Amino acid sequence: HAKSGGKDGVRLWETTMSDQSTARFSMEADLRHAIDRNELEIHYQPIVDLASQKPVGMEALLRWKHPIQGYVSPMVFIPVAEESGLILQIGEWVMMEAFRQVAAWSADFGPLSIAVNVSARQFRSPNFTARADQIARDSGLNRDQIELELTESMVMGHTAEAVRIMHELVDCGFKLSLDDFGTGYSSLSYLKRFPLNKLKIDRSFVSDLPDDAESAAIAEAIAGLAHTLGMQVVAEGIETLEQAAYLADRQCRYGQGYYFSRPLPASRFPAYLAETRARLLLESRQESSRR
Ligand code: C2E
Ligand code: MG
Ligand code: MG
Ligand code: MG
Repeated sequence: HAKSGGKDGVRLWETTMSDQSTARFSMEADLRHAIDRNELEIHYQPIVDLASQKPVGMEALLRWKHPIQGYVSPMVFIPVAEESGLILQIGEWVMMEAFRQVAAWSADFGPLSIAVNVSARQFRSPNFTARADQIARDSGLNRDQIELELTESMVMGHTAEAVRIMHELVDCGFKLSLDDFGTGYSSLSYLKRFPLNKLKIDRSFVSDLPDDAESAAIAEAIAGLAHTLGMQVVAEGIETLEQAAYLADRQCRYGQGYYFSRPLPASRFPAYLAETRARLLLESRQESSRR
């Protein structure tokens, strides 16, 4: 049943399809009403400065809580949303909700940045820049607090067109990150033409650090490349202290992963920020009294 399916969205999907009560479940039809029925939620995963361990912002990660199926993984429903075109409406909702939320937290905790995933279809839609611009303005968040995460496959085909859209977004004041870097087929010669602020090292190169020599070489090469091109680096999927320390020592400024925090529902994020700040303050006091 839905509950026993675990975190694996795909397996959960297959098991539940055979279930009598859910046999007529159509993901696309249900997704069409997900916003109206308040079934979509955003979870926020902190992004920390690896040297100081301070949270500097967070990534918005979409969750769909289906009334019968339970949580459906974005890896499963985002492709359906893309194909059906629903991603345009859903993507706007994510920006509206996340920008509004982070503007409120920034008022309480000082400026935080928010990274939002953009899908290929959104990126290519004719009025994406204008819509994002309008939503940002309505939210009251400063434009330089907003990062849009793009993927290699989105920007590598039709490169001239992609570069034009990217410049449009940058001219509006948005920052651009390249997500899951290293998994696609980026041509390095194009990379320097893209107005990117950050490269995000894919989790697959982080998970075997620091022992696996190949992963280490790749992570180091990506960090070096980003540095040379004047971009910042974020490592995703950091699960251990060793991985965080290894990356911090290799020009990787920011990190994100279960070691710091899992993605949190909005209701739990302020407590995470308050507790982390208190802990860091205490640690720095202990440090200075020892000296
Ligand atoms: P992503 O943008 O690369 O997001 C990072 C994924 O890695 C998230 O999975 C996050 O929960 C997971 N993660 C973070 N730290 C760790 C770690 O230490 N260990 C492990 N094992 N996993 C970690 P999630 O939330 O399931 O999202 C999957 C993908 O779905 C995202 O990958 C992104 O491509 C897409 N997605 C999520 N929200 C949105 C959205 O609002 N719009 C669009 N277009 N795509 C989204
Ligand atoms: Mg992302
Ligand atoms: Mg990513
Ligand atoms: Mg990823």
